[in-house]
Amino acid sequence: MAFKLLGSSCYGCDNPVSGKALEAGEDRDKWCDTCHDKLTPITRCEMCGVHTATAMRRCGQCITCPPTWDKLFCVTEYQAPLSGFIHKLKYRRQVWHAKELGSLLARQINDPAPILLSVPLHWRRQLWRGFNQSDYLAGYLQQQFYAYGKSHVTYLPKALSRVKVTRNQMGLNRRQRLTNLRKAFLLSPNAVSLLQNQPHVALIDDVVTTGSTVSEICLLLKEHGVQRIDIYCICRASPVTL
Ligand SMILES: [Zn+2]
Ligand SMILES: [Zn+2]
Repeated sequence: MAFKLLGSSCYGCDNPVSGKALEAGEDRDKWCDTCHDKLTPITRCEMCGVHTATAMRRCGQCITCPPTWDKLFCVTEYQAPLSGFIHKLKYRRQVWHAKELGSLLARQINDPAPILLSVPLHWRRQLWRGFNQSDYLAGYLQQQFYAYGKSHVTYLPKALSRVKVTRNQMGLNRRQRLTNLRKAFLLSPNAVSLLQNQPHVALIDDVVTTGSTVSEICLLLKEHGVQRIDIYCICRASPVTL
């Protein structure tokens, strides 16, 4: 929607949006050239979502040790400008950014799963924060799919709960992370019956880094008969390659 006038500022960095950007069509009035370049998709492994030199269905890591999910969709790496919006959303309660982030993510997904779930927070953390950022993202994502004519997509907001207070995953090794998360999540009785043998479900999180959290939930969903699980996240933090 190109309603902004020349001289408007970028949604990502407050720098002026150039005339060139304004003329270029969808959303170019919102982002400056630098931010727009950072939002341009890069080549990834379709399965784990990690940045790869060329686009591929499965990277070497996914062939030898596949993740517990089937495909991962994201907007960018964990980098500016989106890392800044995620920080504002989570820690400064600027929940309105979830709408823009959800809209950017929806454009990456042509064939959405008919059922959306979000990674839950433990009720104590949710009480402290006042909301769950993944829940907001999932709600806006469903709205966006609906706007694109994909009205069969349903978000189940209370399907999952986090029943164990887990330590922050940062700084833990792989084994510690998995022990930390074991039996941390539960499905509601209603969700158990809805998800039984579901062919395609998507799980939404704001950022996927090691993948341990979504992985643990995928194991639970597959135990209940879900056949294919996609991960939808705003940022996929790829491991640093040497
Ligand atoms: Zn910018
Ligand atoms: Zn991979």
